[in-house]
Formats: sequence, C-alpha cells, structure tokens
Amino acid sequence: MKALVYEAPEVMNIRQVESPIPGPDEVLIRVAYSGICGSELSGFLGHSSLREPPLVFGHELSGWVESVGERVPATAGLEFGSPVTVNPLVTCGRCRYCVTGRQQLCEHRLLLGASLPGCNADFVTVPAASVLPLPATISLRDAAMVEPAACAVHAVELSAAGPNSAALIVGAGPIGLFLLQVLEQHGVTERYVSDLNPERLAMARALGGTPVGMGPNGTAREVLEATGGLGVDVSFDAVGRAETRRECLASTVPGGKLVLVGLHSDETSLPINSVIRSEVSLWGAFAYSPANFRTALDWLASKRIGLREGVVEAPLSDGPEWYARLVAGDGTAKVLLQPGGSTGPTEVSR
Ligand SMILES: [Zn+2]
Ligand SMILES: [Zn+2]
Repeated sequence: MKALVYEAPEVMNIRQVESPIPGPDEVLIRVAYSGICGSELSGFLGHSSLREPPLVFGHELSGWVESVGERVPATAGLEFGSPVTVNPLVTCGRCRYCVTGRQQLCEHRLLLGASLPGCNADFVTVPAASVLPLPATISLRDAAMVEPAACAVHAVELSAAGPNSAALIVGAGPIGLFLLQVLEQHGVTERYVSDLNPERLAMARALGGTPVGMGPNGTAREVLEATGGLGVDVSFDAVGRAETRRECLASTVPGGKLVLVGLHSDETSLPINSVIRSEVSLWGAFAYSPANFRTALDWLASKRIGLREGVVEAPLSDGPEWYARLVAGDGTAKVLLQPGGSTGPTEVSR
C-alpha cells in the first residue's frame, strides 16, 4: 500500500509499504480521509519526542471497513464496506482512569500516528473497540473531524461553562472553531475569539464569535473593555505559547477558569501570584473520553456543529507540501488528505 512516511525533520515521502494485517481483535480500515492535526506540526519539524522517524502520521480519520480479525463479533456492525470513524486514543480499559471514564489519562494510552502507525496511508489497523460505525446523516468528510471536535467537547465539559458564562478562545484553528460551536451548544452566547490570522478570525466571526485583538496585551485589554472591566468566566488557550497563556490569564475574571488545550510550548512563565490572588483555576484539557468522542460524532451527524469553510481536500501525495504550508502559517482550518486520491475507492462508496 501507499503510505506517507515521516523520515526526518521536514522530510516526508510517499513509500510503498506492507499492508497491515489485522490482529484477532482488530479491524483493517481503508482510509477515506486523514486530517492533518496542529499537534503534528511540531512533530513534522522534529520537535516532538512522541514522534520519531520513520513514522506514518495521522490520527483523524474516516474510512470503510476492509476486513476484521477473527474475534471481532458479527454483532459489532463492522461489515465489509461499512463507513466508520475511529477513536485514535487506544486505552487499556483496566487501569484506574479507564474504569472511571477518564480514558484520556490511561496509564497505557497509545495514539495512532505517534506510538502506533497512523492513517496517512491506504490502510490502517485499529482495535475493533475503537471503531464507530457512522450514522447515515454524516459524510465521510465530516466524520474525519470527529477527533478535533471531541477535544473541544472535552475542554468545554471541564470548563463547566453555561448560559451565564462569558468565554474567550485564543487560537481560531480547528480546535478553537469547534470550541466556539461547542460553547454555543452549552448556551454560551458571549464568546470572544482572538487569532493573528485574519482568515481564521473571519471564520470565527461567521460562527458567531466576537473577534478581539491579538499582539502585545491586545486580547486582554479588549476583553476587559468589552466586559466592563470584569473579564471572562472561562478562557481557552488553544495555542499553547507563553503569550497566549498569559493573555488568557489576564482576560479571566477572579474566580474564573483558564483551560489549557494548546501544546505549543512545554514551559511557560506565568504570573502565579496573580493566579493566587485572583483565585483563577488552571485546568489542563487533554484529548477526550469515549463519551466525549460519541458526543462529537452525534453533534456533527446532527449538524449542530461542523466546519464548512476553510476545509481543503487533497491527495495524500500533496501531504508533504501541506505540512510545510501549515507550519508556515497557512490559514486553512483543516486539511483532509485522501489516500485514494480524488476518486477514492471504487468498490464501496457513499
Ligand atoms: Zn488531532
Ligand atoms: Zn487504562
């Protein structure tokens, strides 16, 4: 099969590799779409200890069941050709976190495209328990965006934001745009968004967000102005740089919450005394539980959330160029690679 292989920092090539064979509890999936995730860009640059070459990236996917292992029950709804998406966070199901519904913290968690071969390929094998058959109301294109939507579902759940909350999102990439929509589902109408990229800010505005400035002190100053000097009840940093984390903190009302989602920088200095004096809670939000993933699928399938603008479909062979463009700051919200090229598989389609 064809696979897009990360071979060294900033080097990815299409290679012919062995097609994977599903184990007894696994499913072989023919990949329809594989989304490029912002979290993979640092890996592409060689800055991620989680992604060592040679590696096939990709953890946001949709596709069709090609074959199943011998122990996968016929009742699983995974017949040949069934359209599916996949929860790419593979967890043990037995540790203290898994048995309390916090699988994202699993002691043995593995991620497709990092610790397991990813979906930037014609085929990928995954545990049958990670596969979700698609309802008829969702396209394969939208189904490839369940994963980033699930990250937003989880972060908003942690924030406990509701109808009386004012919220700020810093970073209007796919996670930020989904945060905006998930907040709306929680009844949050006062939603400020900042981003350096004017295209992304325009997308946020189209989704009901109120743009606020970025740059030195721009975000916090404008948020405080807009909220009568109070600040927002919850802020979400979907970038992860020192300055975006600080802007979020400075924008958050005393007693409010700052939810940290973006992973750009490992270490950041923050004015901790002002965290103490203002009793702002700092929350890390990582990935999603299976329940969050299911919610994201349901909401995308019922069109309660979804990205229309700024989504590009491209053949897998254009992957290296798109990773490089996104690293350079291209404003496209989401790039969906198609291993089958523009035609896709011929024997089964929907
Ligand atoms: Zn992702
Ligand atoms: Zn576990």
